[in-house]
Amino acid sequence: MAARILDGKTFAAELRARVADGASALQAAHGITPGLAVVLVGEDPASQVYVRSKGKMTREVGMNSFERRLAADTSETDLLALIGRLNSDPAVHGILVQLPLPGHIDEARVINAISPEKDVDGFTILNAGRLATGQEAMVPCTPLGCLMLLRDHHGSLSGLEAVVIGRSNIVGKPMAQLLLRDNCTVTIAHSRSRDLPAIVRRSDIVVAAVGRPEMVEGDWIKPGATVIDVGINRIEKPEGGTRLVGDVDFASASQVAGAITPVPGGVGPMTIACLLANTLTACCRANGLPEPEGLTA
Ligand code: NAD
Repeated sequence: MAARILDGKTFAAELRARVADGASALQAAHGITPGLAVVLVGEDPASQVYVRSKGKMTREVGMNSFERRLAADTSETDLLALIGRLNSDPAVHGILVQLPLPGHIDEARVINAISPEKDVDGFTILNAGRLATGQEAMVPCTPLGCLMLLRDHHGSLSGLEAVVIGRSNIVGKPMAQLLLRDNCTVTIAHSRSRDLPAIVRRSDIVVAAVGRPEMVEGDWIKPGATVIDVGINRIEKPEGGTRLVGDVDFASASQVAGAITPVPGGVGPMTIACLLANTLTACCRANGLPEPEGLTA
């Protein structure tokens, strides 16, 4: 195998350890404990698993975890009232609303009700705008995790040709903004792009965030390129059962790439570690204290 494996699991564990150090330093010097509130509406099983694991990891880094579980038929008005209370609660530095929300609730209205300073997912219009205009922002966790892996591998990204495949608001678009901020030449490819293989072939950095199992083939990859695979797809195994694969055909791409993230164990673990990093960053900003280095973009 030619490519260096970018081990997100190990990187994320180190990042969480740095967050834990930062949280304990805040506690020792200022008596402040960062707090993350996670709001779950309804009983979606996958969302319940995510919320439980976010709560556990939040506590493990020495932060307060506030879980707010609401019934599936909660009204938008009641949910907005809860967001309002969390916005004004000084013990809460980060607020995350687990998506998707039930169909009767306007997701955008709820997300944009979160105070931008506490928007640790970076999904509010204000934070998206701040990121796009190069101002201090809360940066969405998954693209932030990808950027950290890329910076760690390359040092400087300046001048590199990058393609982001996927243009979602939570991954593709903010990823492209971050790469642009780091002086890459950025192409955003999507379902209507013509000749995607040709775009990928000229790219030093490929970020795949599509949601199509093993779509990016090894012979699309420029030799030596860095491949960040955001996709998480569950597929049937020929012998029965299922397994997780990314949006990139790892077996062939890893023969050509210079570096590649595996699935699982690449980008996935970085997302939650970046959520904790963002909560610490938000807490420092809220209290006018310096932020630990290397926790944000
Ligand atoms: P999305 O469905 O919102 O967006 C997918 C994007 O892919 C769209 O912009 C679409 O234009 C593009 N696309 C679809 N078909 C295409 C094609 N044939 N060629 C090129 N582009 C195509 O998805 P998302 O929320 O951005 O997530 C993308 C993937 O990343 C999913 O597999 C998701 O599970 C995964 N994901 C992983 C993490 C993580 O923590 N690792 C976080 C978020 C999302």
